[in-house]
Amino acid sequence: MEYNVEKIRADFPGLDRRFYGHEMVYLDNTATSQTPRQVVDEIEAMYYNRKANVHRGVSSISQEATDCQEETRRRVAGWIGARSVEEVIFTRGTTEGINLVAASYGQRFKAGDEVILTVMEHHSNIVPWQLLASRTGIKLRVVSLCDDMSTLDLEVYRSLFNERTVMASFCHVSNVLGTVNPVAEMIAIAHSHGVPVLVDGAQAVPHMRVDVSALDADFYVFSAHKMYGPTGVGVLYGKRELLESMPPYQGGGEMIGTVSFEGTTWADLPFKFEAGTPDFVGISALKKSIDYIESIGYEAIDRHERELLDYATAEMMKIEGMRLFGTACHKSAVISFLIGNAHHYDTGMLLDKLGIQVRTGHHCAEPLMHVLGIEGTVRASLAMYNTFEEIDRFIAALKRIAPMLV
Ligand code: PLP
Repeated sequence: MEYNVEKIRADFPGLDRRFYGHEMVYLDNTATSQTPRQVVDEIEAMYYNRKANVHRGVSSISQEATDCQEETRRRVAGWIGARSVEEVIFTRGTTEGINLVAASYGQRFKAGDEVILTVMEHHSNIVPWQLLASRTGIKLRVVSLCDDMSTLDLEVYRSLFNERTVMASFCHVSNVLGTVNPVAEMIAIAHSHGVPVLVDGAQAVPHMRVDVSALDADFYVFSAHKMYGPTGVGVLYGKRELLESMPPYQGGGEMIGTVSFEGTTWADLPFKFEAGTPDFVGISALKKSIDYIESIGYEAIDRHERELLDYATAEMMKIEGMRLFGTACHKSAVISFLIGNAHHYDTGMLLDKLGIQVRTGHHCAEPLMHVLGIEGTVRASLAMYNTFEEIDRFIAALKRIAPMLV
């Protein structure tokens, strides 16, 4: 079936914007993606018809709201290949999922224990471990890049495991380099040392099918807003036996069995980790973004994004002074670049004046910037609704501004 990008775009009213008299070209999808009507319709239906607190009532309206939320849990569980719905915990996003695991699972770590991270991590997969280190005295060990400055050095990764290693935590896809890491292999290596793994899937799920059971991931986290879904919602998948062995992360309503001043017991999974009223509106809408992705199909999305990526990369390389960061063969549709020695911010400002929406800065990956020897990049990131015409406009804009910058 032919990929009908115009039909897809018609579902995304948010793409229909103008800036400085130019039609918007939205190339900041790694930061957050636009949202289709189908997802927003669900949000509206929840607010107008089913705004009742979940899991708290015998009333019909509360049960309807609860069903909408729990339907998403079943949908997510099946979609990511979890063994049971109890293994799907709703969070505020990737960041909260990692904080939850570091704070709760990490309570068993002792001074001198080691957690392996990589140099290409987003701050949200660094700082929670640093906070844990300041409380417990654990040490962080960091996997470096190969000479290509794009892929992880697996020899270094292997060499970091020792009897003190208690956890490995790394991204599936880099938000700066686009590199798709060999996570199945990395998980198998960790498991051969008896070490559990957390995978940060924030940049994977918008672009590729993820099967947590096939990967044998112990924890897998992602955010709905990057996969055409609502803001403020995320998923933490955890293997049941690990989640059961972990203490609660936050206390409050819903996460308890019984409460008394003498002592409190915890609810069963998944509710033990869902204190307080969840964003049941957003959670309900998350299933619609999964439905949307599936209605297009990962294979078709991947083919389209790959064609755009290859085309954009080839055209960019023809521009004098262009410096690309992230050249792994197995790469997602993210292009980080600089033009000559121009500041990334200047490039971003000039692109903005031509309607091109990109991101500039360190992309919450300062350690990676240090390794690359730069302060930041301009980042253009693609999604299923981007078109070749948009890439042409982006390239034309780059050609126009490059002579002013080099
Ligand atoms: N991890 C990666 C690889 C990311 O790209 C991002 C966001 O850009 C995050 C984590 C944090 O996601 P969130 O802000 O939705 O929690």
